[in-house]
Amino acid sequence: MLSDILSSETCAKCKNCCVFEEQSAWELPAFSVGAAARLADHPDYPMIEDNGRYRITLPYDETHTAKPCPFLDPDSGCTLPASEKPFACSIWPVRVMRDTDGMPHLALYQGCAGVPAAKHDALNRLLDNGLRDRIMAEAKADPSLILPFHPNYHFL
Ligand code: SF4
Ligand code: SF4
Repeated sequence: MLSDILSSETCAKCKNCCVFEEQSAWELPAFSVGAAARLADHPDYPMIEDNGRYRITLPYDETHTAKPCPFLDPDSGCTLPASEKPFACSIWPVRVMRDTDGMPHLALYQGCAGVPAAKHDALNRLLDNGLRDRIMAEAKADPSLILPFHPNYHFL
């Protein structure tokens, strides 16, 4: 969805969105009931119910090593067809987060190598050309997309 400004080559090298530190497990993708049922026999790791969605769980141990999403192929990236990819994954590194008044806004992950400050104007143009409205409409239909503010992000 952000392919106009985000190169797949940069993401293939980075993979930051698809590998999760234990403390970032809250960012693991969540699937609709239908998608979770269709994918039930794929992952090695179970999903748990989370506010009407199904979130991947990963087998963290005492080493607390970061783990990849089970749908990540180390060479080719996400193995899910676009129709099954969680909406939150399709808009990374953009999220919807609440401000201190509880109002949802778009927020950008500050550690994204693919959207440095030099690309922020291009990102804002993309958002202003309809993407912002589309994301906010999805968040209205699926409030699980709206997260508490996290300091690794900044509001757009
Ligand atoms: S953090 Fe940015 S560059 Fe890295 S994989 Fe995610 S979207 Fe791509
Ligand atoms: S579902 Fe795909 S895009 Fe989302 S975290 Fe897993 S591998 Fe990455």
